Amino acid sequence: MRVKQKQEISLAGLKVEIPTAAALIKPLAEAGFIKVIQRRVFRDPLGDPVEPDRPPELTAEQTAVVKQVQDRHGQGFAAFLLTGVTGSGKTEVYMRLVSDVIENGKKAIVLVPEIALISQTERRFRARFGERVAVIHSALSRGELLDQWRKISLDKTDIVIGARSSVFAPFDHIGIIVVDEEHDTSYKQETGLRYNARDLALVRGKLSGCPVLLGSATPSLQSYQNVVLKRFEELKLESRINRNPLPEITLVDLKKYKDGRPDQRIITPELSKAVRQCLDKGDQALIFLNRRGFSTFPVCRECGKALTCRFCDITLTLHKGCNEYRCHLCGCGVPVDTACPECKSKKIRPLGFGTEKVESMLKERFPDARIARMDQDSTSRKGDVVRILKSIRNRTVDIVVGTQMLAKGHDFPSITLVGVICADLSLSLPDFRAGERTFQLLAQVAGRAGRGDTPGRVIMQTYNPDHFIIEASRKQDFHEFFHNEAPFRKALMYPPFSRMTQLKISGPDSGKVKAYAGVLEAILKNLLDNEAPFKGRVQVLGPVEAPIQKISSRFRWQILIKSPSSALVNRLVRSVLDHPRAKPKPGFILSVDVDPYFLM
Ligand SMILES: [Zn+2]
Ligand SMILES: [Zn+2]
Repeated sequence: MRVKQKQEISLAGLKVEIPTAAALIKPLAEAGFIKVIQRRVFRDPLGDPVEPDRPPELTAEQTAVVKQVQDRHGQGFAAFLLTGVTGSGKTEVYMRLVSDVIENGKKAIVLVPEIALISQTERRFRARFGERVAVIHSALSRGELLDQWRKISLDKTDIVIGARSSVFAPFDHIGIIVVDEEHDTSYKQETGLRYNARDLALVRGKLSGCPVLLGSATPSLQSYQNVVLKRFEELKLESRINRNPLPEITLVDLKKYKDGRPDQRIITPELSKAVRQCLDKGDQALIFLNRRGFSTFPVCRECGKALTCRFCDITLTLHKGCNEYRCHLCGCGVPVDTACPECKSKKIRPLGFGTEKVESMLKERFPDARIARMDQDSTSRKGDVVRILKSIRNRTVDIVVGTQMLAKGHDFPSITLVGVICADLSLSLPDFRAGERTFQLLAQVAGRAGRGDTPGRVIMQTYNPDHFIIEASRKQDFHEFFHNEAPFRKALMYPPFSRMTQLKISGPDSGKVKAYAGVLEAILKNLLDNEAPFKGRVQVLGPVEAPIQKISSRFRWQILIKSPSSALVNRLVRSVLDHPRAKPKPGFILSVDVDPYFLM
């Protein structure tokens, strides 16, 4: 009956209605009542139906940018850096160029940071290009991923949009490669085959002889230096698409609450007042803190020792949601009623705070508001991210608290207030990119405010209101940031003014790892002293113990190699690896990270 009504139905669909369907099919087919056919179906990674859209009219700025790229069509490889303020309509520029390429019978690859992809880019591309889009990201099940790759290899698609691995899409005639939010660190694969998808996109563009368009409101120093060197052409979008001004950013100096009540240092009276006003208007607020958990520094009241992970060299974080102290490096957990390993006292003081604590404080202060939290802990199951993003879009939450997952690329028109709990968190990390990342994160999160019709407001709490990075973020001025930061890097010979490779050494025994690092040091020294091309042109820093000395019971050392010439760095590293004494003993690992991002 059901089959007759539907004409055609999948076995899975039929089983939902008639559980015994599988057993009935064979006799029915043999009797000629039904026909069994096999067909490959593509699962749709989207939950919601997507309404087709029509391309809007471009602004004058967008048109000019599109034309600059189009003018270079057919002339082989060219690299562009599109610097547009947040909300300036970069995606529309990408879509116009992609559509142009497809009309000419070629293919397009569009790389997007995963989280932005899930929230909206996928939807926008599907609305515009329909079934000819394949989408690749890690929220897909293995089966869904296989379907997407198969769709690409069977030539059933013209466009791949996806996270970093999409750069390998098996296309033959590529017409354009786009890398959105090119500064995003998620393009760097940190395990197994280490690569940076942004850099590979440029390589692939050269091989395919097509333009590569990198885009960002907060470009990486690396890419902007390529503009300075005239390797990339800069394209600019200087105004927001709806002509809204950029949000007004107010700095709140946390030093003035230094001696006040502790909760005032987390949510200052200024921020509290702004949230109240925002709620009273019926708008939404986004509260940003790039640190998760409830207490990030649990300390024993008796002996004063901080609780640390048994396997790693870091403090545990209290997660009230799961009643555990957790290690953010190896993931191991300790029950919340654990006694101090030092003095066996059970009195542990929860110092330090993360998103979970901020969420609970907001609940106390604004009992009438609906509050959601978005961080790695609240999104551990498949579908969690989509659910939270949907609740923001559908306005079933009033305040959303979150980490950098919330800062990236989302477009929520009803968010008119962004509160940054502590702008300085990542400033002092022992990493030469700490300033760059802080600027990118702050400028990006501020850009989430006021994307609809109402102008936005940002309250940025900081201990360093005079720091040039905080100031550049306040103005959302990338060029100011660049002109202040670049001289530091140049003076210290850090990328983009040099090429850098890191040798990461780890092993189960502290003393032996150190000894092994010493062996590598001797090999390096010998090469530097005796081989002419390296002399004075390659610098070796270390070996030193890594800032995080131990992860998952493995002790870690590192050596940094830098030089203005990447060929020399590569040659030196190769010579070390080929040296018979450099081979790691069983249980020890020597890995090579070219252009490292994780220096801790
Ligand atoms: Zn103790
Ligand atoms: Zn650990």
